Amino acid sequence: MKYLCDLDTGIDDALALVTLVQLLKNDPSSSLIGVTASYGNVQMEQSARNSLAVLSLFGADDVPVYLGVKHASGMRSFEVAPGVELIHGRNGLGEQNIPDTTRKPEQMPAATFMARAAEKYGSDLTIIATGALTNLADALQLRPSMAHEVGRIVIMGTAVTVPGSINAWTEANVGEDPESAQRVLSSGAHLMIVGRDVTTTTVLTKKQSDAWAQAETARGKFLAGMLAFYIHAYNINYPGLGGCFISDPTATVLAVHPELITQSLYRHLKVELDGPTRGRTIGDLAFGQKKDMQTQTVLQLNLDAFYHTFFDAVAQAIA
Ligand code: CA
Repeated sequence: MKYLCDLDTGIDDALALVTLVQLLKNDPSSSLIGVTASYGNVQMEQSARNSLAVLSLFGADDVPVYLGVKHASGMRSFEVAPGVELIHGRNGLGEQNIPDTTRKPEQMPAATFMARAAEKYGSDLTIIATGALTNLADALQLRPSMAHEVGRIVIMGTAVTVPGSINAWTEANVGEDPESAQRVLSSGAHLMIVGRDVTTTTVLTKKQSDAWAQAETARGKFLAGMLAFYIHAYNINYPGLGGCFISDPTATVLAVHPELITQSLYRHLKVELDGPTRGRTIGDLAFGQKKDMQTQTVLQLNLDAFYHTFFDAVAQAIA
C-alpha cells in the first residue's frame, strides 16, 4: 500500500506524521510516497517547512514534500486564527526548534502530485488528509477519475453525531473550506471519515507525553516539548481532560489499521453550504436513497488496541 498525506503541519499533524512513518517502517510492503502541504494550523509554506523538518528528524529524508494552495477556494488569503496560534505556537510546532533541512519542496504542485499518484498507483493508494481539503478538491477537479481510482481517502474532519470545534456544528478542517470539503464528500471516492465523533475519544495525557523525554533523544525531547505546549493550551479549552485529543494521529493509525474500528456509520455525507448551519456535515438524503455505502464515518474504536499501536509506534520512533 502507498500512502500520501496532506497536512497543515501543526502539532497533531507532526505527531500523526511521526506515527505513520514508523508504522510504515514496520511494514516493508508499504511506503509514504509524499506529503503535500495544506493550510490551517499554520500557513501552507510553514506546513511544508515543518513536514520537511519532521521527516528529517525522524529519518525519512527520502519522502518528497509538495506545496499546496494557500487559502480556501472562495477566499483570496488565509490568516491563522489567534486561537489556533495559541494551541500550535507561531511556528506550528509548539515553539520547539528543530533544524531546517537542506531539502526544498518539490516543483510540482500538490494537486498535480495527488492526481498523478492516483493515476500511477490506483487502488494501492491511500490518501490521508488532516487539514483543509482544498488541495484534495483541486486534485479531484484536475482528475475526476481519481475518485474511483484511489483505494481510500481518509479524512480527519467533520462532526456528525457530536458538536463541532469552530461552533456547535462546524469542525475546523471542514469549516476552513466548506466548498472543497463538499467536493470531496460528493466525489464518489471511498471515504473513511475520522471526525470528532471518534477523535474526541482518543486522549493523550501530559504524563504520557512527558515520558517521551525520558528516551533522552532529540526526537523524544521534541515530541514531549511539543505536546507539553499543546496540552497547556488544551487545559484552557478543555479543563479536566488532563491531556489532549490526538485527532490527526487517530486518522493515520486507522488508515494503516482499519481493523481497530469497532463501529461505523455507513451513510453518504454532505456539507451544508448555505444558511446559519454552513459548515455542518450531515447525512445526504439524496445520496442515501441511492444506497451509496462508500462513506464510512468512524464512531468507535478498540481503544486498548489503538493506544497499544500508537504508543508502540511512538516509542520505536523516538528510540
Ligand atoms: Ca491538522
